[in-house]
Amino acid sequence: MLAFMRAKLKRVRNRGFKLSFIVSVLVGLSIILALIISIGAVYQIEQSSFTERTLELNRINSERLAATTDSLFKSMKQSLALTAGEMGKHLGDQDDIQYQMDLLKSSSNNFNSTTFVDKQGMCVAISPASVGLAGTKLTSDQVAQALNIRKFLISEPYMATTGRLVVNVSHPVFDMNGGFIGIVVGTIYVQADNIFKSILDKEGQDLNESYTYAVSRLGVLIYHPDPSRIGEDVSKNPIVQEIMNGKLSSEQSLVNSKGASMLASEALVAESGWGVVTQTPSKDVLNLTQKAMKRIILYTLPFVLLLLILAWWVSTLVAKPLTQLANYASVFSEGEQHDMEFPQIKHWNYEANKLNKAIIKAVGVLQEKVVHFTQESQTDALTGLMNRRSIDSYMEIWMEQEVPFSVLLLDLDHFKAVNDNFGHLMGDEMLKYLARIMLNEVRPEDVCCRFGGEEFLILLPRVHAELAYKIAERIRMRMEFSENPIRSRVTLSLGIAGFPENGDNPILLLERADRALYQAKQNGRNQIITYNEKMN
Ligand code: GH3
Ligand code: MG
Ligand code: MG
Repeated sequence: MLAFMRAKLKRVRNRGFKLSFIVSVLVGLSIILALIISIGAVYQIEQSSFTERTLELNRINSERLAATTDSLFKSMKQSLALTAGEMGKHLGDQDDIQYQMDLLKSSSNNFNSTTFVDKQGMCVAISPASVGLAGTKLTSDQVAQALNIRKFLISEPYMATTGRLVVNVSHPVFDMNGGFIGIVVGTIYVQADNIFKSILDKEGQDLNESYTYAVSRLGVLIYHPDPSRIGEDVSKNPIVQEIMNGKLSSEQSLVNSKGASMLASEALVAESGWGVVTQTPSKDVLNLTQKAMKRIILYTLPFVLLLLILAWWVSTLVAKPLTQLANYASVFSEGEQHDMEFPQIKHWNYEANKLNKAIIKAVGVLQEKVVHFTQESQTDALTGLMNRRSIDSYMEIWMEQEVPFSVLLLDLDHFKAVNDNFGHLMGDEMLKYLARIMLNEVRPEDVCCRFGGEEFLILLPRVHAELAYKIAERIRMRMEFSENPIRSRVTLSLGIAGFPENGDNPILLLERADRALYQAKQNGRNQIITYNEKMN
């Protein structure tokens, strides 16, 4: 099979490809190449525009959520300040304090629990009371810090004594004289349902695979759509480091902790120094780009096909005159139709017309030459009679068509003596003279030929032996009695043979005519002998 295909390919290579095929392939290839290049360019543009748009959307989303979170902290600060003010004016008994905490807790959804801690770090009251810390001393660093700095404070997430990961938002309480008496703490249970979750869950998560997370100042996950990751330290993440440094770069792409490439945009929460990050898997953008590309290709495909068909059609048109010329030239070169008219091809292609004209001219010249050389090769230069070469074909054709004919073989007697006595030129004149006699004595359809030297031959179609003899006798008499160029008596001997009676092939027939001629010479010259069986 392989050998067969190789052989076929070789045959094509030897004969060459058709012009229309070559032009079509060239045009087709350039169309496809141009298409690939432009699709590549469009792909680049589409991808970068999708990337830019995604980053922009992510930035807007992060900023919006950061702003929401920031205003949330502001409202927390207000309500904590309000409660702290009330308690500073009048710090009642245990029930009063519990009442204030319950009020603070229930007035909003901001906190999971609210606590009043006195300046010694004792939990005086907590709402809901079920947390069960009232009356215990709170020893965490975060509480100690809040007691220490005596300012509004948002803590880092930490593990509380209750075993919960929490963030404390605290406000100092001062009495009427400005004496510090403790802190009001709103606690957010980071891993439970809380206020951040209710904001970020609802608004941060997109329909596609984009998602939003929030980190604390020290790089701990405060919120993440995967709850199991909340509390995780992600400070190694480059975008989180930017947040921790408080320096936001413009949009960027990065690899997330699971190794997926992401397009991320971040924003800072001013009040807490937290960061909000929205990110989209890069493959989302890739999918979008590919979808867009598929659409573009689908729309352009019919036009490309149309263009290819057009290219094929035009190349066939361009190649048509050359194909015609090639076909005619190959018929011409087969050699059977040398007299064929070469067609005039009119075409809008300049080269094709020029080539056509050149070929017509060349073919014309060639045809003239062929006629000239054919005639020349068939005629004897001295007498203008046919030469020996064409004789055989006449005889063959007649034999094939069973046309009877006679052969006269003529030879001048003692011609050597003519040459010797009158010179070679006069000898030539004598040969021409005999040729004229022959032509005068035969019909147009008879074939006269110089057989070589001073020997001649006449083919007489449809002439039987008797008539041939009469014709031969007329020629012999003419030669003997007419006035010839040397004005001296010259005679002629003739041998006759006939088809079909004396032979069925040209060689045999000529041989027998020659035998008859030989006999005439033997018998004393200047006479005619018809071949007969006894001569063998
Ligand atoms: P015969 O035929 O009667 O036996 O005698 P012959 O002298 O004709 O003998 P032969 O056929 O042997 O000689 C032929 C001569 O014809 C020889 C040659 O000089 C002469 N001859 C042949 N071709 C030409 C030619 O083209 N021009 C001239 N002038 N002479 C030729
Ligand atoms: Mg001779
Ligand atoms: Mg002779």
